[in-house]
Amino acid sequence: MSNIVTSELKAGLTARQAEKAAFENNKLHKRLCRQVGQAIGDFNMIEDGDKVMVCLSGGKDSYALLDILLTLRERAPISFDIVAVNLDQKQPNFPGHVLPDYLRSIEVPFHIEEQDTYSIVKRVIPEGKTTCSLCSRLRRGILYRVADELGATKVALGHHRDDIMETFFLNMFFGSKLKGMPAKLVSDDGKHVVIRPLAYVREADTERYAALKNFPIIPCDLCGSQENLQRKQIKGMLREWEKKFPGRVENIFSSLSTVIPSHLMDRSLFEFSQLKATGIANPDGDIAFDEAPCATNTGPGSVVIRLQRAEDSDIDSDD
Ligand code: SF4
Repeated sequence: MSNIVTSELKAGLTARQAEKAAFENNKLHKRLCRQVGQAIGDFNMIEDGDKVMVCLSGGKDSYALLDILLTLRERAPISFDIVAVNLDQKQPNFPGHVLPDYLRSIEVPFHIEEQDTYSIVKRVIPEGKTTCSLCSRLRRGILYRVADELGATKVALGHHRDDIMETFFLNMFFGSKLKGMPAKLVSDDGKHVVIRPLAYVREADTERYAALKNFPIIPCDLCGSQENLQRKQIKGMLREWEKKFPGRVENIFSSLSTVIPSHLMDRSLFEFSQLKATGIANPDGDIAFDEAPCATNTGPGSVVIRLQRAEDSDIDSDD
């Protein structure tokens, strides 16, 4: 009997329930490995000889990232090293022993960087103002320095699909930009390649996986900062959509990988000014009067728009 089934039995489930739970958990593990492997392959995130610095915050996502990368490393046809790094920002009540204990127990090389950014942020930012932007700037600089010192060639972060989607809508709603969170990028100092191997993974899956693996989660509210209200609202909006219109969020996420600059309005991405008729028919070419895709979902909340001839329409009548 597998370890997973044994642990489900210990949790008080019947043998049949335990088997079913173990099957589901096994499926979840396989899905995470497949999605992370796919993202790594699609974006060429990890190459032979890389030293990957996995940034561990003590939250569910970074634990899941480290765990899945360790599994994939065993199966990979290439060889790469992993070093886990945590930045202890000296937040009040940060349980400094939790991560070292965990990392020792799974025999992963690690480095804990102690830097009191908490005091700096508290000193510099007036009471009541959000502290996150200075805090993350400081953290970023420190992590890049540590990556240099450790000789890391890649810096891996635990952002997942939902983080990417939320950032996309935040940028659109509040920054007027079509801009998400890149799966792979060169750091602003130009010296590091940052990767997000969980880019295809849903947050609900990292949540379930963390519970399944019993990761020793460190609460993320130790700094006392207010939760980002706008991000929270976007998260709520996406959850609501997913509930009402299953598949919608998945479609939006897929659309981030299928961008058609000629059908947007960014003149720096497409030379509209140089566009000329070629006189040559292209069977795969565009048609000028594309119809908008029809909404087929007539469930609650959907709107059916019927087109009327002008003379039948009340709006256009003279009376
Ligand atoms: S929530 Fe706290 S620890 Fe996280 S970025 Fe904001 S201030 Fe820093």
